[in-house]
Amino acid sequence: MLMSQLYAPTLRETPAEAEIASHRYMLRAGLIRRTAAGIYSYLPLGLKVIRKVEAIIREEMNRIGCQEVLMPIVQPSELWHETGRWADYGPEMFRLVDRNNREFCLGPTHEELITALIRSEVRSYRQLPLRLYQIQNKYRDEIRPRFGLIRGREFIMKDMYSFDRDEEGLNNAYWDAYHAYERIFARCGLKTRPVEADSGAIGGDETHEFMVLADSGEALIVYCPDCDYAANVERAEYRFVSQKNEAAPLELEEVATPNAATIAEITAFLGVEAADCLKTLIYVADGKPVAALVRGDHELNEIKLQKVLGCQTLELAGPDIIERVTGAPVGFAGPVGLEVPIIADRCVMDMVNCVAGANKADYHLKNVNIGRDFNVTTTADIRMVEEGDLCPKCGTAMDSARGIEVGQVFKLGTKYSAALKATFLDENGKEQPLIMGCYGIGVGRTVAAIIEQHHDENGIKWPMSVAPYHVIVVPVSIKDEKQAQAAEEIYTALQAAGVEVVLDDRNERPGVKFKDADLIGFPIRITIGPKSLENGNAEITLRQTGERFEKPISEITDYVLGLIEG
Ligand code: ATP
Ligand code: MG
Repeated sequence: MLMSQLYAPTLRETPAEAEIASHRYMLRAGLIRRTAAGIYSYLPLGLKVIRKVEAIIREEMNRIGCQEVLMPIVQPSELWHETGRWADYGPEMFRLVDRNNREFCLGPTHEELITALIRSEVRSYRQLPLRLYQIQNKYRDEIRPRFGLIRGREFIMKDMYSFDRDEEGLNNAYWDAYHAYERIFARCGLKTRPVEADSGAIGGDETHEFMVLADSGEALIVYCPDCDYAANVERAEYRFVSQKNEAAPLELEEVATPNAATIAEITAFLGVEAADCLKTLIYVADGKPVAALVRGDHELNEIKLQKVLGCQTLELAGPDIIERVTGAPVGFAGPVGLEVPIIADRCVMDMVNCVAGANKADYHLKNVNIGRDFNVTTTADIRMVEEGDLCPKCGTAMDSARGIEVGQVFKLGTKYSAALKATFLDENGKEQPLIMGCYGIGVGRTVAAIIEQHHDENGIKWPMSVAPYHVIVVPVSIKDEKQAQAAEEIYTALQAAGVEVVLDDRNERPGVKFKDADLIGFPIRITIGPKSLENGNAEITLRQTGERFEKPISEITDYVLGLIEG
């Protein structure tokens, strides 16, 4: 490919919309262009990288016995009604109607479709296990599309689905996929950390997310520096050690706290620690109000609370409900005198003489004590884990980090097969639901994550395995006959050897050419300048390390092949 012909419109300036490195460089290096919020076109360089990542994914999926299929993007609503997800999916689903007013969606995921696809054909245990996957666009009307390909509304996903006759089969599929993911991300040059995650709305039990640790990551994880425990904070647990405060209970006291409603305002106003305040949150669980208590310096975890309550829906109560339940405006709720169920975090049980809302506008209570002033309905772990909490496995203080979720493996069990009546006959002729798993990788998000881990202030530093081109050949001056000829020679020889190479044939200043080469991130730059050429040499620069050295032109092809393979 000649640089003069390569359609890679590079930008000197950083577009204002780009907040993180991968997004900036994908725009600046001419990999992608935005069409609408969260919707992108892939330009030649971007598409080449996408295709390389897809090729790695295909190899590793095929290696574990998966077969590729391609399902429709447009999916009829009937299938989603069968599982109840037409209603549950909410506004993230792109919905449409055809000319006959039949409802469809643009597939945000394909559990329904694939289960319906195989249910009439897979009948016997002899047809199992079955592992099918596709690589295709997905559609989710994300509330906050951002960071370029990291959170799009149209994005490419690899989704694999496994069907087994029993738990053991599912377990094999799950761990095969898990290890395939480790290989895929390693081959993409990514350092990932698999973390235990919450299975959320999709159902099922065991699940791991593959996280690329990066400060720009939207997910927060905690991990143990001493053992392999790592989890998404949404799901993370910790070793609880009761630290009962032994102070004697003092007399309950009502204090005026005009305009002090938040924990920060209260601690400042009363001169107390957040850890001595009770945070009382009013929720509506399946339509009924409940109160949740956590220590003032802790964050409530809604996923844990929802599990404890065993409810289908859980949302923070609005001002009207809060006023009805507590008799006070927002900011003055407390447990004393409440007539709704009270779920307390277990750390709350250790508190003595705490500060809590008085259920009265502009008033709080001091010296509130559990058992004396109020009782809780349930005690459980309902708070977010924090850095410093003890590892649930080994007890070491945990660290936290941010991560980009590039892939996820799920054990679904029979959630979809039962709803969609996808059954098989076992060895005894008995009808059983298929046991399923599902396994996703965000292809575009993976490419963005690669850039997050491989860049510097000048641009992208592609790992060889996914680079759009391996080499750029840059004559310092294309006007110089000798340089032009040597460059052409190297370029042709590399092409003949199957190397993906670009020749920068533009009549530009060397600085401009080097800047573009760095921005686009070719792993190898071969520079032909007057001095080295006199000795029959060219200069090689490695983008990853910045190393620079000369090589005889006659040896360049073999040397480059060695670098690509090694
Ligand atoms: P997130 O929590 O980030 O929204 P998710 O849990 O909804 O992700 P899955 O349904 O598990 O994602 O989808 C599988 C993979 O698809 C994810 O691991 C991620 O890499 C990718 N993915 C999900 N949503 C998006 C998106 N909006 N844009 C780009 N990639 C996405
Ligand atoms: Mg999502």
